[in-house]
Amino acid sequence: MKFDVEIYDTTLRDGSQAEGVNFSVLDKLRIAEKLDSFGVQYIEGGWPGSNPKDIEFFSEARRKRFKNAKLAAFGSTRRKNVAVGDDDQVRLLLAAETPVVTLVGKTWLLHVRKVLNTTPDENLAMIADTIRFLKDKGKIVVYDAEHAFDGFKDDAEYALATWQAAEKAGVDVIALCDTNGGSLPGEIARITGAARAGLRARLGIHTHDDAGLGVANALAALETGASHVQGTINGYGERTGNCNLTSLIPNVAFKLGKTCVPPQALPRLKELSQFVDEIANFRHNPRQPWVGSAAFSHKGGIHVNAVQKIVSSYEHIDPASVGNTRKVLISDLAGRSNIVMKARDLGIRLSNDAPELREILARVKALEHDGYEFEAAGGSLAVLIRKILRKKGLPIQVQSYHVSMRYEGKSSVCEATIKVLIEGRTAHTVAEGDGPVNALDSALRGALATVYPQVRGIRLTDYKVRILDSTAGTAAKTRVLIQSTDGRQEWGTVGVSGNIIEASLQALVDSMEYRLVKGSR
Ligand SMILES: [Zn+2]
Repeated sequence: MKFDVEIYDTTLRDGSQAEGVNFSVLDKLRIAEKLDSFGVQYIEGGWPGSNPKDIEFFSEARRKRFKNAKLAAFGSTRRKNVAVGDDDQVRLLLAAETPVVTLVGKTWLLHVRKVLNTTPDENLAMIADTIRFLKDKGKIVVYDAEHAFDGFKDDAEYALATWQAAEKAGVDVIALCDTNGGSLPGEIARITGAARAGLRARLGIHTHDDAGLGVANALAALETGASHVQGTINGYGERTGNCNLTSLIPNVAFKLGKTCVPPQALPRLKELSQFVDEIANFRHNPRQPWVGSAAFSHKGGIHVNAVQKIVSSYEHIDPASVGNTRKVLISDLAGRSNIVMKARDLGIRLSNDAPELREILARVKALEHDGYEFEAAGGSLAVLIRKILRKKGLPIQVQSYHVSMRYEGKSSVCEATIKVLIEGRTAHTVAEGDGPVNALDSALRGALATVYPQVRGIRLTDYKVRILDSTAGTAAKTRVLIQSTDGRQEWGTVGVSGNIIEASLQALVDSMEYRLVKGSR
């Protein structure tokens, strides 16, 4: 599919530079899959030359089949005074085996002379050699022109010469980077326009939000000649972050009237934003433009009244267009189609006028109010929907359990016993584990395996805990999000309780039920 504007996501590379973000390889793979199904054109997976985790990511990602996105490995132009074929960092870029390679290189003479300690001519050769080398290997090459705007302001002629060197070497995209994030939209527009006049290659824009202008600056470039934009989901990134794609994408689609993602993806924008926050273990920002829970909430009496009469009176856009909802008039219709859409993703057929929809919606809302979060816990949602539809609900009932921990000599041992009613029979098992949750998981699995031996093939791949806000007078709750796999498919489940063990058990039971019901379909 061809779009007016190319979306290049760098959540997994520039975004992971953010304070507090620490993605595991599995986290990165899950986000990449989500971005691909959403419909971005490029996913920058990491910098293979900078850490072994990124090398591992690329070797895992190679086995995945992406429908929409092309995977990019990020690196820099060759070192000074070294033949490009002898540069280890460039070799690692090839070893990542991605269709796209993105190279960062210098535009600003200050950096060429004082940081690289080399000559302006050698810098031009470093850019051209590396691009030509990668083009010869059949790569799509994106050139990230670091400090493009600061460099142009310092010496316009040299800046343009660096971009022309990239163009002559056969580059596919030249992305102008406002690396320090200090430019104003007017400057971005003027310099992008000058670049457009001097170049034929596709121009891109990569902005940072240091002046609170990351999205505005990207839009300014898109209006003056760029047609490729780099950013991150929720604006993750170094310092104050990168251009926030969850604002940029709807601005391009609805305000500039240009295509950039498949139209059916736009109503899934909020879900994507929440999903990435969940994986990063961040609370979703309610005031986030477009996708925050407060983005379309109306509190003032006059607003509410006016919005009830004419929705457009106090809203710049229909919240449903990005998958969000109006807070005062919770749109029953939007909620319903959301559930129908999610059910379909999970392989459950549900029509828009199914009588059970109202009950499902009410249950989901009540649970979300209690702290559950289903964006990254499709397994739990599927179990819930199936229970309400009364379709092959599994008669698994945890009757009692006990977890204990004792310290013995040099190490501690956790032991769990559990009594489960399975298809009318009681199974009672004991297991030890590295920790209380691990012991409980083994005990539950042991009990279920007496009837369903296939549960032995399920593995936990991730376990995340979040302490939720305590509200007046009540203790804080814990939300546990687990990720399971049977080797072929992965699914997430969730549990919430004042007690972390209880919350974990809920998520574990959902995980087993999800797999068993799915298997028996
Ligand atoms: Zn950057």
